[in-house]
Amino acid sequence: MAKRILVIEDNPANLELLTLLLEAFHYVVLTAGGGAEGIEVVRREKLDLIICDVQMPGVDGYEVARRLKKDPMLHRIPLVAVTALAMVGDREKVLAAGFDGYIDKPIVPEKFVQQVEAFMEKPEEKLGKTMQR
Ligand code: MN
Repeated sequence: MAKRILVIEDNPANLELLTLLLEAFHYVVLTAGGGAEGIEVVRREKLDLIICDVQMPGVDGYEVARRLKKDPMLHRIPLVAVTALAMVGDREKVLAAGFDGYIDKPIVPEKFVQQVEAFMEKPEEKLGKTMQR
């Protein structure tokens, strides 16, 4: 069954680009134009992964991460930041907020889906380790 990915991004051109790239690889893509809307979609839909912009007006990516990761129903869904932040310490800030990882902006279209897929394999690895105990 096709995996379901939510993209939260306030820039319509970026949102369209990420959607087209993921759809080309047969993912089902849901979209949200902001953090608050994104969190609503997460509560409503079954998802395999969330890709989230960091800098957004209103509820930004950091706040999305904090809210999702403190929710026992939602915190296991892999959450990946797409961020142009380049300053030392910003990546740590992204991870500290609860993101499971990040992909740098501008994205490289040829690499993007592969980068995304690496994050979707992680929960299965974790599950495998848990079951071995
Ligand atoms: Mn933005």
